[in-house]
Amino acid sequence: MLALRGVRKNYGPTEALRPVDLDLTGGELVVLTGPSGSGKSTLLMIAGGWETPDGGEVVPGAPLPDLPVARMSWADVGFVPQSISLFEELTLADNLALARGGPGGDELLAALDLTRLASRRPGEVSRGEQQRAAVARALVASPSLVIADEPTSHQDHQRALKVLAALRAAADRGAAVLIASHDPVAVGYADREVRLGAG
Ligand code: ADP
Ligand code: ADP
Repeated sequence: MLALRGVRKNYGPTEALRPVDLDLTGGELVVLTGPSGSGKSTLLMIAGGWETPDGGEVVPGAPLPDLPVARMSWADVGFVPQSISLFEELTLADNLALARGGPGGDELLAALDLTRLASRRPGEVSRGEQQRAAVARALVASPSLVIADEPTSHQDHQRALKVLAALRAAADRGAAVLIASHDPVAVGYADREVRLGAG
């Protein structure tokens, strides 16, 4: 689905990523672990195409021969940023509808305990609820690549399990799912754990 080849990233003198190789296959959930500052967020941003590496390349598994830039279409990548980043002026349901290109996602909202909150705006729900809505939004268009940065960081244990189950279900229907997490429970849902040291 996606391959990182010799990917490097520096922020000034900081080597955020030394050359990293990583293959992601459809149908698998990969959990990226490692200490704070080890480069997890940077790797996710590069894998999703939101950040440009200083060296190496990001190769989509299904090559797009006529495109000069190796990049998948936006609609085909679901992203849960650490910052959550919902549209504040839209209800949770409308945030999903925007991502999906139409209404729907009721099952996802239910699976993530959001049904009764669907008509609220992000400012009217808790941080944990916002985060689950961001997960729902990332999954609602059934993208082939899902990238989530600490998607259970604001959840209690029961809700963390629901978030992980939703991400697992996306992998089981064929998506490549890459998440960064400190949560040992997340590793239990993974096909593979990839540990990042200092970059
Ligand atoms: P993690 O997600 O594992 O905590 P990050 O990818 O956020 O790690 O950060 C890796 C390293 O790069 C850290 O040393 C961090 O301080 C640095 N870094 C990340 N983003 C920036 C930035 N925008 N500017 C400068 N340094 C950054
Ligand atoms: P927690 O911190 O346990 O996640 P909160 O205390 O933030 O929960 O929220 C508790 C309940 O109040 C949640 O169901 C949430 O939807 C609701 N709530 C939180 N903030 C607001 C708000 N600004 N306006 C309306 N409802 C809110």
